[in-house]
Amino acid sequence: MNWKRFTRRDTCPVCNGQRHDCRQNLETNLIHCRSDNANPLDYIYRGQDAWSFNMWAYKPDADEWASDRHEEWLLEQQQKRELKEQQEREQLKKLLPIRERDQVIRLILAQLELSDRHREILKNRGFTDTQIDSAGYRSVKQWQKLDNPVSNRLSGVKWDGLSLINHTDGILIPVPNEDGLYTHVRVNDCSPDTTHKYYPLSSAKRGVKYHLASGEQPVAVYLPDKPPEKQIIGFTEGLEYKPLLASFNLGIPVIGASGGNFASSREAIETAIAHVKSEVRSSSLRSGAIAQKSEVGEDDFEFVLYADAGSIINSHVALQYQKLGEFLPNLKIADWGQLEDQENGLDIDEVDVNNLEITLITIKRIKEESDKLITSKSFSDWKSVNITPRNGDRILDYGR
Ligand SMILES: [Zn+2]
Repeated sequence: MNWKRFTRRDTCPVCNGQRHDCRQNLETNLIHCRSDNANPLDYIYRGQDAWSFNMWAYKPDADEWASDRHEEWLLEQQQKRELKEQQEREQLKKLLPIRERDQVIRLILAQLELSDRHREILKNRGFTDTQIDSAGYRSVKQWQKLDNPVSNRLSGVKWDGLSLINHTDGILIPVPNEDGLYTHVRVNDCSPDTTHKYYPLSSAKRGVKYHLASGEQPVAVYLPDKPPEKQIIGFTEGLEYKPLLASFNLGIPVIGASGGNFASSREAIETAIAHVKSEVRSSSLRSGAIAQKSEVGEDDFEFVLYADAGSIINSHVALQYQKLGEFLPNLKIADWGQLEDQENGLDIDEVDVNNLEITLITIKRIKEESDKLITSKSFSDWKSVNITPRNGDRILDYGR
């Protein structure tokens, strides 16, 4: 080993010459010093060597070493991330194209029926028999068996193609895109105490996701049965009954996203909007609902979000809505008194739309209102918990 010995003239920087046996390892640059009361500012203690010399590293060197290591670590993390993304892209590329998914889903629907009990549930929700039949709803038992096997390349089909991956009984819901093609299937678990009322069937565990080839979550697109009279494209939370009923009842196209998470389906929503616009324009022209081509301008479409009851007092939901507003700057939120009313407010599929007074609010005002409400709500919660018991509250009496 190559050592440098410190001398009286060239003193040890750790003890400043207090001891005379200090030395530096020229390979590691560590200083070996036996002083027990040295506390050098520029050095970091690195333990003892075999002869009980304390070892000290020069701090700037140590920092540089640490930052080298840090960069190395960052690089490793980045490589791992890139590999994972690469694998995900490969998986997405292998997914069944939408047209073929639609075919497999229709093969599944053809093997199943809708029970009277489930039809009753749907009617109670406001559907007509015709609507129920055209929506393709079916009843499924847990791990629904299929008599005729279907392609296991559809997410939600077991590897042997002989059953579905639904962990509960319920109503099977095929979800259409803007072309009326089914992208995936979901289940409505009708049991009252369920935690997942709606869930997608998925084979993600064997690498077959129900996502779109872009990696985005599919959206649901429902078109009205008659050419719309107004140029409005509606949005609701959910991919199931709500956007479908809203479309029927309001007579406009409606796009639904899971949990109101519109931002994670931006591309799908933009594609759907473009398609719906041209569809509405041509069908309105055909039907004469709009007389001349010149009346149908590109930007005449209004975007209206039919927000759920109590949505703006929920900061998470309010944020989701704002994210939709980021790529649809003209977005308006429909308000019929439901926005602040989580307890008694009704969603768009639960109200009588013919007797509904709707106010359209800009996304900017929603943000202001929501911020205000969320702050004051948590403040009043805090007050009621800590200070004033409300009428009817049970007051604990420790005195007896
Ligand atoms: Zn020393």
